[in-house]
Amino acid sequence: METEQVKCLIVGSGPAGYTAAIYIARASMNPVLYEGMEPGGQLTTTTEIENFPGYPSGVTGTAMMEDLKAQAKRFGADVRFGIVTHADFSQRPFRLTVDGRKVVEAETVIIATGATAKYLGLASEQQFRGMGVSACATCDGFFYRNKDVAVVGGGDTACEEASYLASICHKVYLVVRKNHLRASKHMQHRVMSAANIEILFEHVTEQVLGDESGVTGMLLKDHKGKERVIDVAGMFVAIGHHPNTEIFKGQLELTAEGYIKTVPGTSKTSVHGVFAAGDVQDHVYRQAITAAGSGCMAAIDCERFLLEQEA
Ligand code: NDP
Repeated sequence: METEQVKCLIVGSGPAGYTAAIYIARASMNPVLYEGMEPGGQLTTTTEIENFPGYPSGVTGTAMMEDLKAQAKRFGADVRFGIVTHADFSQRPFRLTVDGRKVVEAETVIIATGATAKYLGLASEQQFRGMGVSACATCDGFFYRNKDVAVVGGGDTACEEASYLASICHKVYLVVRKNHLRASKHMQHRVMSAANIEILFEHVTEQVLGDESGVTGMLLKDHKGKERVIDVAGMFVAIGHHPNTEIFKGQLELTAEGYIKTVPGTSKTSVHGVFAAGDVQDHVYRQAITAAGSGCMAAIDCERFLLEQEA
């Protein structure tokens, strides 16, 4: 198999990966970045980003990712199409297989493969993605000011998103499949005490309704099989995320949910020379700006690691 040696390999092309690439490239450490399955990451599936500092008029996710990529390339980052299909961190240099046909031997690795929001799996949900169906209230909630929306899920994320939306929307339905919430007591109390949140326990979503303008409602079914339509302009799916760490299982310490464990306050993983940044190691904040910040941390940790090795 073709083999190549690199100083720093970055896996993933969201804000964390590109920010790491910008910093590593500016430190003249010639990073190679593989974009992975979804070039640009989760942000390319959102519409307008209005909360990333420095864009007073907002920016689309795709445009921001193009800018980040151009910035990384300007300083010499080698950005490539390709998916890392296997990783061996048992010794340095680490060996990573790309597209099943090439081995990259890397002195250091920064993992920024992100997480993927789970969806219900309905065809109608897919049809209205970006047209009323979203998996991020912080990103898209603003577009539904004073309107009625629904959040699906009963965990902390769903409750947090419902509370946030309740502060800007007219009314929020929280659609929960069980007869109780899984969220922490504190979060439960918050949604239950909000005047404009209505919790629909034991309801599942049968269909997302809409027209060419986007979502107009949801067809729900309760545990007795009774159907009901709610009129909403937006549906926020908050049923969990799935960290993209399959290929690192058994190589790195992961949390029970599959996120990469990092030493608190750093990007260091359980293997010296392997760093993690962005949503792949953060299930709490999950924002473009925090991902970018942690990409910067990973680059600095990586740079220091390489300097120590050379000393
Ligand atoms: P969770 O896995 O905790 O909750 C997922 C929710 O979605 C559950 O209520 C689950 O229902 C429901 N669900 C799953 N699949 C479906 C489906 N197909 N249809 C309908 N409902 C479905 O995910 P979260 O993202 O809420 O939280 C992940 C982790 O992050 C948790 O540990 C949480 O505590 C933590 N977190 C902490 C926060 C904080 O401390 N501020 C904020 C956000 C998250 P069911 O209960 O029936 O399985």
